[in-house]
Amino acid sequence: MDLIASIDRKLDQLASQSLTRRRRVAETRCAPRQVVDGRPLLAFCSNDYLGLAAHPRVIEALRAGAELYGAGSGASHLVSGHSAAHAQFEERVAQFVSPHLVEARALYLCTGYMANLAVLTALGSEPDAMIFSEALNHASLIDGARLAKAGVTVYPHGDLDTLACQLTASSASTRIVVTDSVFSMDGDLAPLPGLLELCERHGAWLVVDDAHGFGVLGAHGRGALEHFALRSPHLVYIGTLGKAAGVGGAFVAAHASVIELMIQRARPYIYTTAAPPALAHALLASLDIIGGEEGAALRDRLSALVAQLDHELRLERWQRPASQTPIQPIIIGSNDEALRAAAALHEQGLWVPAIRPPTVAPGTARLRVTLSAAHTHEDVAQLAAALNKLERT
Ligand SMILES: *Cc1c(COP(=O)(O)O)cnc(C)c1O
Repeated sequence: MDLIASIDRKLDQLASQSLTRRRRVAETRCAPRQVVDGRPLLAFCSNDYLGLAAHPRVIEALRAGAELYGAGSGASHLVSGHSAAHAQFEERVAQFVSPHLVEARALYLCTGYMANLAVLTALGSEPDAMIFSEALNHASLIDGARLAKAGVTVYPHGDLDTLACQLTASSASTRIVVTDSVFSMDGDLAPLPGLLELCERHGAWLVVDDAHGFGVLGAHGRGALEHFALRSPHLVYIGTLGKAAGVGGAFVAAHASVIELMIQRARPYIYTTAAPPALAHALLASLDIIGGEEGAALRDRLSALVAQLDHELRLERWQRPASQTPIQPIIIGSNDEALRAAAALHEQGLWVPAIRPPTVAPGTARLRVTLSAAHTHEDVAQLAAALNKLERT
C-alpha cells in the first residue's frame, strides 16, 4: 500500500501546481472540425499542417496497403519485417531530399522519437565523442543524447558564438551538433546556414530534426534544408511523418554510409517490430501530394492563414514571439491563467492546448495555436476574435 500512496503523493503534488495533464478523446478523424468527448470542437492543436491525415488519397492508399501487405509486418526489419512498401518509401524519400545531401540514402523508422534515439546513439556511440545540443531541443533529442555514450554540451538557444567557442575548445574525436529546425513550442527557425558553416569549419556533423518543417517549408516541401538552400555530406536529416505527412513514423536521410551504420548498429531501429507496411504504402501517396502541385497549393493556403492570424490578433498583455510557421504560440506566463484561457476557449467550442512546464520553461505557459491548410479563413477569424476578447476579460 505504501508504494501506491507514494505515487498518489506525487500525483497530488502535480495537481497542486496545475500540472496535471488529461487526455481528451477524439471521436472523429483528425481535422479542424472534430467531435471530442461527445462535443463538436474547432481544433487548433494538431500538427497535421497540410490536412493529409484525412486526405482521401492517403486514406485510400492506407486501405490498399493493408490489402497488399496485411495489417502488420510480423517482425523487425533485420529479421523478416522489411517489406517492399518500406523499401519503396525509403528510395522515394531519399530521392526527394537528395538535392540537399551527398550520396543520399534514407531509413524509415516507427516514430520520430525512435529516429532521434537511433541517430544520436549511432553517431555518438564512443565515449570520446561530443554532442552539442541546442537548449530548446525536443525531448526525443535530449533523450537520444542521454542514451548515447558520447558526452553532451548544451548551447544556448540560437547562440552561434557560444557554440563556436564550445567547438573550438573541444578535443572530442567526433563532434555532433544537433538541433530542431523549427522549434516546436515557439515556431521559430534555427539559424541553419550559420550552424552548417560552423560544422563544416570544425569537421562536425549537423543533425537536423525537421519534424515541423518537412512538407511545410521549401517550395517543394522538402523542408528546412530546401528553405535555406543547404547541401552537405555532413548533414543528417530527420523528417517525421505523423505531422505534415499525415500518417506516422519518420525517416532519417544522410550519406549512405551513415544509413548503413544505423542499419548495423542503431538499437531503436534494430530491436523493434517494423511499422505496418501499409503505413509506408500510404506515405507514398503523402509524398506524391507534398512534392506535387497540390502540396504547393496547400502550403500557399497555409501561409495565407498564418498571415491572416498575424493580421487579426490584437494582443496587448500576452506575448506573441515572431513566428513565420504554422506554430503560433501565445505566451501567457502562469500555468493557471493559461489553463483558464484554454478552458474559456473550450467553452466557446475552440480547442487550443495550454502548454505548461516541463514542456516549456517555468513562467512561460502558453496557448499553442497550430494552423492547418484544412482550416478556413472563417475558422481563423473566429479564433482571432475569441482570443482578442478573452485577453481583455
Ligand atoms: C513530434 C516531434 C518528434 C517526435 O516525432 P514522433 O514521430 O511524433 O515520435 C521529434 N522531434 C520534434 C521536434 C517533434 O516535434
